[in-house]
Amino acid sequence: MSEPKSYEGSCHCGSVRYKATVDLSSVIACNCSMCGRSGTILTFVAPDRFELLSGEGATTDYQFNKKSIHHLFCSTCGIKSYADGTGPDGKKMFAINVRCLDGVDVSTLQVTNVDGKSF
Ligand SMILES: [Zn+2]
Repeated sequence: MSEPKSYEGSCHCGSVRYKATVDLSSVIACNCSMCGRSGTILTFVAPDRFELLSGEGATTDYQFNKKSIHHLFCSTCGIKSYADGTGPDGKKMFAINVRCLDGVDVSTLQVTNVDGKSF
């Protein structure tokens, strides 16, 4: 088990910037209609492990299906660096797009495939 570590992440143009404490031993790739298209690799954190540094108001909010997740993408560059939502247990959580974290080599991570299409 690896210890959760603090990383900074951003969209492409840098309007959206955040700090998140994540456990990179637990990352998923999902095949649902959203993740399958956008190719995000995700990890999930509680609100106390997420801090938005900049980009409030710089994102466009997209919701679908149960509308439990705000799929926030940068209105300038279109990159979805994180999402803001409610987990199955009703608690607030943030989905971090690991591909947007500084200094993370995604090719070295053990990615778990999730069959979100069938949920
Ligand atoms: Zn951007």
